[in-house]
Amino acid sequence: MRRKIAAGNWKMNGTGLDLAMLADLCDRHPAPRCDILICPPAPLIHRAAQTVRNNTVAIGAQDCHAEPSGAHTGDVSAAMLADAGASAVILGHSERRQDHGETDASVRAKAQAVIANGLTAIVCVGETLAQRDAGDTLDLITSQLNGSLPDTIAGHSNVIAYEPIWAIGTGRVPAAAQIGEVHAFIRSTLGQRFGPETAAAIRLLYGGSVKAANAAEIFSVPDVDGALVGGASLSVADFSPIVSAL
Ligand code: PGA
Repeated sequence: MRRKIAAGNWKMNGTGLDLAMLADLCDRHPAPRCDILICPPAPLIHRAAQTVRNNTVAIGAQDCHAEPSGAHTGDVSAAMLADAGASAVILGHSERRQDHGETDASVRAKAQAVIANGLTAIVCVGETLAQRDAGDTLDLITSQLNGSLPDTIAGHSNVIAYEPIWAIGTGRVPAAAQIGEVHAFIRSTLGQRFGPETAAAIRLLYGGSVKAANAAEIFSVPDVDGALVGGASLSVADFSPIVSAL
C-alpha cells in the first residue's frame, strides 16, 4: 500500500509570521492517515523544521543546486537543505522550468543530488494547454520522465507530481478521467524503465488548483496518491480539509 501524501508548496509566500500555521496544522492532525509535507521558501526551512519538530508534518524545499558546494551565488545544495531540516525537495516545477530555464537534464542532476543526500525527490512534469490541445500530452510526459529521472530511484522514497501547467493557479482542473489517464500512463512508463516493483511503490501526486471542494473527487482517481497544493496550502482552513480527504 502506498501511503498518500498531502504536500503544500508555499512558492514565494510566507515569512516567520506564517509559521504559526504549521503549529496549527500539527495540532489539527495529530495522527494523520497520510504523510503531510509543507515546502516553504528556503529562508523559512530551518525555523519551519523547528516548529514541527517531533510532529506529523514534514518540511521540504522547492529547489536545490545539483552541486554539493562551490561558487554558485544565491544557490543552496541538497546537503544544506537536509542540514536545515528538510526531508524532501520539489524539483522541476513548471515555474522553475519557465522562470529559470530548468531543463530535464538539470532537473535530473538535481534529483541525483537530492537522492544522494537521503532526501525525497518530488519531480514535477506536466503539459501546457497548447500541448494538450495538440494531443501531445503523453509524448511530453514521456520525454520529461525519461529526461528528468535519474537511472536509479527507490520507489518508496521518491515522488512524481503531475501538474498540468494550465491547471496551476487557474481554478481549472482536468476531468477525473484525464487525470487518471496521465497517472496510469506515468505508472506504466515507470514500470518499463524501472520494473514493476519500483513503479508500484512510487507515489504519484496530482497538482493544479486542488482545493477542499475538489480534493475528494481527485483522490478517488486510481493511481492518484495525493496532491501537491499551491494556493490552498497557505492557510490551515484551506489545507486541513485536503489532508482530511486523503
Ligand atoms: P495551485 O499550485 O494549487 O495554486 O494551482 C499548484 C502547484 O503549482 O504546485
